[in-house]
Amino acid sequence: MPKINILSPHVADLIAAGEVVERPASVVKELLENSVDAGAKNITLSIERGGLTCIRVADDGSGMAPEDAGVCFLRHATSKLSDERGLEAIGTLGFRGEALAAISAVSRIELTTRARGAELGVEMEVEAGDIQSMREIGCPDGTVMTVRDLFYNTPARLKFIKSDRAEQAQCVAVAQRTALAHPEVSLRCLRDGREEFFTPGDGRLVSACYAVLGADAVRDMLPCSGESGGVAVEGFVSSPSAGRGNRAQQFFFVNGRSVRSVTMQTALENAYKNTLMTGRFPACVIHIRLGLGAVDVNVHPTKAEVKFSDDRAVYDAVYYAALSAMEQERPAREAELPPRPEPEPEVKTGGWRMLSAKEYEERFIPEGYSPPRKYELPQSGGGVKLRDIMPPQPAPQPRPEPAPQPVPQPEPEPLAQARPTERDWRLVGEAMSTYILVESADGLVLIDKHAAHERMIFDRLKSSAEPPMVQMLMPPVVFRADPKTAAAVENEPERFERLGFDLSMLGSDVIVRAARCDIDIPEIQSAVEELARGFTSGDSDAALHTMACKAAIKAGKSSEPEDLRILAAAVMSGEVKYCPHGRPVAVTLTKKELDKLFKRI
Ligand code: ADP
Ligand code: MG
Repeated sequence: MPKINILSPHVADLIAAGEVVERPASVVKELLENSVDAGAKNITLSIERGGLTCIRVADDGSGMAPEDAGVCFLRHATSKLSDERGLEAIGTLGFRGEALAAISAVSRIELTTRARGAELGVEMEVEAGDIQSMREIGCPDGTVMTVRDLFYNTPARLKFIKSDRAEQAQCVAVAQRTALAHPEVSLRCLRDGREEFFTPGDGRLVSACYAVLGADAVRDMLPCSGESGGVAVEGFVSSPSAGRGNRAQQFFFVNGRSVRSVTMQTALENAYKNTLMTGRFPACVIHIRLGLGAVDVNVHPTKAEVKFSDDRAVYDAVYYAALSAMEQERPAREAELPPRPEPEPEVKTGGWRMLSAKEYEERFIPEGYSPPRKYELPQSGGGVKLRDIMPPQPAPQPRPEPAPQPVPQPEPEPLAQARPTERDWRLVGEAMSTYILVESADGLVLIDKHAAHERMIFDRLKSSAEPPMVQMLMPPVVFRADPKTAAAVENEPERFERLGFDLSMLGSDVIVRAARCDIDIPEIQSAVEELARGFTSGDSDAALHTMACKAAIKAGKSSEPEDLRILAAAVMSGEVKYCPHGRPVAVTLTKKELDKLFKRI
């Protein structure tokens, strides 16, 4: 007896349907894409009971002639592709000619459609893929596709459908992505008769973002654009101060198609490295456009994934566009008051000790240790001043005290802002030994001096542009090495040296003969240990964060006015915006906000 059966077209259709139509949201996606492909300017989507009872999409697109309507539910029926050459440059959202066949195989469909210019339209009923009725009818231009009782004939599939609410949310999410993909189309989304959103279709991405994501989300977004390697980028990215708890608000589009793209996601997130708190994710609406031949959309039946012929070019374009968006952010944004500063880590004092000079000579000189090298010693002896280790700053402009009104600044262009010079702001002083107060045209700027300094040190450590200022430790600091530290000191002493530590192992002790000036002696052990941990784990940025935190001036200890001025200049010039953990470095209280507090307005 033969064992191989040729499946009936009906069963074959059901199997194929499963690939394209996994859930109600897949139907929403396919129907909306067809409307966009048909050149619709206005689309209304209504979903009932999570899309299981009814999904209706009405558009004012090209419509279909009766003979096209008669075949559009057949497999491989498409008006968008005619031969294999077309596959190399697909400019429409659909092209496989599968969606309507798949949807109609697992539902009951009513279609009314009228081609532009035709006198009459046509009305059809299709059930489980078979046309039940078809007749001429008077109707508006465009197409209305109503899909009812989805999966009524595939109970196995129905069982896997989650709750109505979960499906509802998925359907709305698909509609949101379509709306963001096509700001030139006005999309109205109704859920059980209630309006979810309604985009104006004015062609501006920002308008679509407002309608879909809400005013609050858009307020935190920075315009982002650029072009490199044949890839144009346009859109919005969130400010690092407005990180999200997940990636739900990351929207990527390639040539008007919503996609999942590891390349784009990685590029975006790497641009936020060191400015966003760990565990937070940037939000974005990013469109890229590139030659149709440079992207393959025929990778997956749902077309949610794409392949780029040049991943690197896409990565670079997105990465640099996001970075420059953050660069152009106003230096001290109006922001909510930041969360309370985290308590400073407690200084560990146990474990290390200083050798006496005699002990040092006895222990090291005989064992062949040469006396420590000479290092530049800071002028100020023990306490190192910030200005001693900062690059020279231009002398501040003399200004009469007390200053009159701050110089009013013209409203800056949103994208091309001049960086403020010291003439545009005035150092008022220090409050609570923690915050620097600056008056500027924008209002009163409060700067977290520790966070600002931490960022400056971090950037310098990272660029390693200048060698650190180092002080000789006489006698050296000695502590018992944990295994990680021992291994790192043995294997890579030069990495420590580059960061300003001269150290070596002696037996199971670490001997630190010189250390950066900006690290207090009691913190040397923990700094070395954490650097060692960073080096061995491969996350050297984490180690630099720790170093920067330890080296930065502390909150709660008052600072010299000149040091405050250096920090204020770095923040006001826009050089420093976020601490390496992503906390804001400055907040601005505008005059209006202060006036409100005092009930002047
Ligand atoms: P594809 O979109 O891949 O071509 P579909 O099965 O989704 O395949 O649609 C089949 C065809 O039906 C389309 O190529 C198009 O000609 C026609 N069609 C579907 N929806 C619409 C619509 N809303 N307006 C006009 N024509 C449509
Ligand atoms: Mg289609």
